[in-house]
Amino acid sequence: MPSIRLLSPEVAAKIRAGEVIDRPAAVAKELVENAIDAGSRLIAVQVGAGPERLIRVQDDGSGMTREDALLSVRRHATSKLANEEDLEAIRTLGFRGEALASVAEVARVTLSTRSAAELTGTQLEVLGGTVIGVSGVGRSVGTTVTVEDLFYNTPARLRFLKSRESESRAVARAVWGYILTYPAVHWRFQAAGREDVDLPAADDLLERWQILYGRGASDGAEPFAAEAGDVVVRGVLGAPEQARSGREQQVIAVNGRLVFSPALGVALRQGYGNLIPSDRHPMAVVLIEIDPAQVDVNVHPTKREVRFRDEARVFQATRQAVEAAMRGYVPVSFEMPASPGIPFAGTAPASAPHAASGPRTAAGSAPPAPPRSEPAPARASTQTAIEEYAPSRDAGRLAPERVEEGTQTAVRENLLEPEIPIWQLHDRYLLAPIRGGLVVVDQHAAHERVLYEEARERLYGEGAGSQHLLFPRVVDVTSDELDRLLTIEPHVRRLGYEITLFGEMQIAVRAVPAAIPEEAAVQALRSILAGDEAHVSADDPPEERVAKSFACHAAVRSGQSLRPEERRALIDRLFATDLPHGDPHGRATYVRVSLEELDRRFGRR
Ligand code: ADP
Ligand code: MG
Repeated sequence: MPSIRLLSPEVAAKIRAGEVIDRPAAVAKELVENAIDAGSRLIAVQVGAGPERLIRVQDDGSGMTREDALLSVRRHATSKLANEEDLEAIRTLGFRGEALASVAEVARVTLSTRSAAELTGTQLEVLGGTVIGVSGVGRSVGTTVTVEDLFYNTPARLRFLKSRESESRAVARAVWGYILTYPAVHWRFQAAGREDVDLPAADDLLERWQILYGRGASDGAEPFAAEAGDVVVRGVLGAPEQARSGREQQVIAVNGRLVFSPALGVALRQGYGNLIPSDRHPMAVVLIEIDPAQVDVNVHPTKREVRFRDEARVFQATRQAVEAAMRGYVPVSFEMPASPGIPFAGTAPASAPHAASGPRTAAGSAPPAPPRSEPAPARASTQTAIEEYAPSRDAGRLAPERVEEGTQTAVRENLLEPEIPIWQLHDRYLLAPIRGGLVVVDQHAAHERVLYEEARERLYGEGAGSQHLLFPRVVDVTSDELDRLLTIEPHVRRLGYEITLFGEMQIAVRAVPAAIPEEAAVQALRSILAGDEAHVSADDPPEERVAKSFACHAAVRSGQSLRPEERRALIDRLFATDLPHGDPHGRATYVRVSLEELDRRFGRR
């Protein structure tokens, strides 16, 4: 690492200074970023029960010479930036040379470090910004920074801290974000009473994700990667079924820097299409790589926000990458928790209790801690469970005979074989045996997906065929319903309805969309007019609302018995849609239960 220099006053003036340190999480973030910038392979973070009492970050990175160590705690002292041009293309997380100085001003800091260039290390004691002790210390190459009694000299700041719990959570979020962004680093994270994990360097992000989240929340997670011009977007996408009510489990990083970006959050969500309900947020890690000259990281005091030269391009790239990855998504079959009376838990693999307990979200916000037992077995079994789903992104490109079991393509091809029996269960689910397992289709959700896509084609396309009714159906309407009809009439006409006014408070339905039973079509229209749009999001444009309502109300109900040819037609049409795996509100339309899972439940494995 080049040695530390004080920035010239001109460069320093260009830097957006700020009160970088406003809470313990900011300390953790800055220290971890420094450790990453130092090229560390191992980073250990230790946090006290009250994070303002103690945060220690230890690394095996480049370390510092004594001279550099003394400079490092001064303001605008950095090894990462020399002149103004460097500001145009920043490749490191730090560049302002302010963090250590700002921390040192408001805490008791002990910095111990050694660079490979020196045989003895240096230990500095800094109190309230003043170096009060310098000594030699024997230690390995690397740096340890210990921050104690944060804000001891600024009681106002201390009073503004939130509860211990929420400060600890904020620290954990900052650290977990980097743990997910840098899988090649060996991380240790100990936070009194909360976390105690040791995560050796992982081969890839999916592996890190699986160890971190364990069975349950990591099921169905897919790695993805896409390139659009000079923007590379990659990461891991959680299964739509695992979407959360908050955004805490979304990690977005630009060139390795964690950022807060509502815009990219929207791109991510849009990429999932309507696979997830509008009030849920996908779990995901999205890593964006882009020419540093295209990003301005110097816009925010804590560097939490970045600005892109061409935001639209990055937005599109992100949305499209996610969309492409989700297109081949196959819903995961969820394991039912073992009922207590059945004594087969003992024969299940080591990770089963974890799987049964499902995702663990500490206080519903911080990412769940990884399994506390040895991570190795959890990883092994998670991987076997995941592997069968993993190749789905490539499925479209594989020759049919090489299509792997369990991918969407395989499921579709398998189901379309005419001799496959399709059973109906409780007039609600369709069951079909496929290679390597069983597919369970929710008949209502599946039909809803089919009708929704057809409705959209009609609404945005040519419009569609109608069936004229021999006897027009006369329907009573309220004045509100009449008002609504007047606004949405062009949309329902495109769907295939033909409606005329009939007397004061009545309408005559003269035609309904082709291929929908008359009764169901008229009922659907009534529900649309009545504004019965329970699942429809208020942000949807009117035609989208019509499409969703229509699909929901015209679809076969659960409880309706279907003849064998109707079952087959439904499955054929479902798999002909763009997104067969979810209904328009984000519920699954089908799940695949693998033979392995059945075997496991019967203790055969
Ligand atoms: P910045 O990261 O913006 O340069 P900091 O105040 O965070 O500013 O750090 C000042 C300098 O101290 C860095 O430029 C770097 O040279 C050195 N430094 C800080 N932490 C470490 C570390 N963990 N390992 C090696 N060098 C470090
Ligand atoms: Mg720094």
